[in-house]
Amino acid sequence: MLRVAEQYTGTDTGRQRRANEDALLARAPLFVVADGMGGAQAGEVASQIAVEAFQPGISGSGEPERELAELARAANERIHELSHSNAEQAGMGTTLTAVYVGEQEVAIAHVGDSRAYCLRDGKLLRLTDDHTLVDELMRQGRLTPEEAVEHPQRSVITRALGPEGAVDIDTRSFRARADDVYLLCSDGLTTMISEEQILTALLTHPRLHDAGESLIRAANDAGGRDNVTVVLLRLEEVGVAGPDGSDSEQTVIGMAPVSPPLEADTATHAAIAVVPATEAPAAAGAPATPEGSPPASGTTTPPALPARRRMPRAPRPSTAKPRRWRLPRLRSLGALAITLVVLGFIAAGAYLAWQSVYFIGTNGRGLVTVYEGVPLQLPGGVNLYTRKYVSGVSAATVPPARRKTLLNHHLHSEGDAASLIRSLELGQLE
Ligand code: MG
Repeated sequence: MLRVAEQYTGTDTGRQRRANEDALLARAPLFVVADGMGGAQAGEVASQIAVEAFQPGISGSGEPERELAELARAANERIHELSHSNAEQAGMGTTLTAVYVGEQEVAIAHVGDSRAYCLRDGKLLRLTDDHTLVDELMRQGRLTPEEAVEHPQRSVITRALGPEGAVDIDTRSFRARADDVYLLCSDGLTTMISEEQILTALLTHPRLHDAGESLIRAANDAGGRDNVTVVLLRLEEVGVAGPDGSDSEQTVIGMAPVSPPLEADTATHAAIAVVPATEAPAAAGAPATPEGSPPASGTTTPPALPARRRMPRAPRPSTAKPRRWRLPRLRSLGALAITLVVLGFIAAGAYLAWQSVYFIGTNGRGLVTVYEGVPLQLPGGVNLYTRKYVSGVSAATVPPARRKTLLNHHLHSEGDAASLIRSLELGQLE
C-alpha cells in the first residue's frame, strides 16, 4: 500500500506582484493549488474559496475523481455567486489543480493553467492540460509551440472556476507507484522556468524541501513575474521508513497492495515525458491558423470569459509531442485513383472558397487582420489563405467578449469583412 512519505509546500509573491493570489491546501492525501485572478483582492478571494471547498476532504470510498469534481463545482458556484453580489469581485476566478492519493491511483481534478506533474524514473510526466487559448490551439495542431510563445493571446485562460455558472472539470486517474514524486504548481513557476529546469531541480535535490525551495528561487531568479506556488509529495510503500527530514503526516492511504508499474492512463490524456528539449515541429497537414489568430468558432471556442491578462510568458521549451502525418497505405492503384479524385475535389473546393471568402484574425504582431481564403493549411504547408488587409488595431485593445466574436474565423463576404474592420477602426465596435 502507498502513503505520502514526504511533502513540501511553498508559495511566494514573486518579484513583481504586490500580493499573492495563489492559495494551496496540503492535507495528505489531498493536495490543492489555486491561482486566483480578478481586480482588487478578488483573485485572492477566489483562490481561497476554491481551497476551502476542499478542506473537508473526500471520502475516497467512492470515485475520487467524481468527488473531486463535485467539490470543484461547488467552489465554482460559490465564487460565481459572490462575484455577482459584489461589484468589486465581478468576474473573479481561479484555476484549480487538486490531487488525491488513493489506494493505487492518484485522482486529479483540474481547471485552468496550474499544473500537476509526476516525476518517475527520472522523467517528468505532465498530468494536466492547460486551459489556455494557445494550448488548445496547439492541441488541435493549429499553432506551433514557437508561434504560441509569441501569440498575442497567450495569456488568455479559457476555463476557470468562477466566471461562469457552470464549468467543465477535467478529471483523470493516474496509476501511482512508490517513489513517485508529484508536483502541483501555479503558472508562476512554469512560465518562468522550463520543464527541463524543473526536472533538473527535482533530480538534484533528493529532499523535497530543498527541491521546492530551489524551484521557487529559480522562478524568482528568472524574473519572478508572477506569484509562484509549489507543492511536492513523494509516495512510498507502507512499511518502508520515510526519508530523514520527512515532514509528512505519515497518513496511511488505503489497504491495497502496491500496483505494478503501469503507464499513465493515456485514454484521455497523454502524459508527456520531458526529455532534453526537442522542439516539436508543426504537424504537417494539420489545420493551420494564421499567425496570432484565435480559434475558429465551434465546440473548441471557449465560452465568454474575462481574459486574464498576464505578464508575457517567458519562452519555454515545448513539451508537445511531434505529431506525425500519416499517409494512408494505398493497397492498390484503384485506391490511389480514388484518393487522387477526392483530393482533386478538395483542392477545387478550397480554391473556389479561397477566391470568395474572407475571415478575420490577427497577424504576428497582434494586429487585427483580414485574410482572404479559408483558415486551413494543406499537407505540405500550402496555406489556403492570404493576408488581405492589416488594420491599425491591436487585438489586445479589443474587449475580450468582442474579440471572441470578431476573431472567430467565421467566413465573411468581402463587404462584410471590410465593414467590420471599418467599424473597428472607427471605434464603433463595442
Ligand atoms: Mg499565476
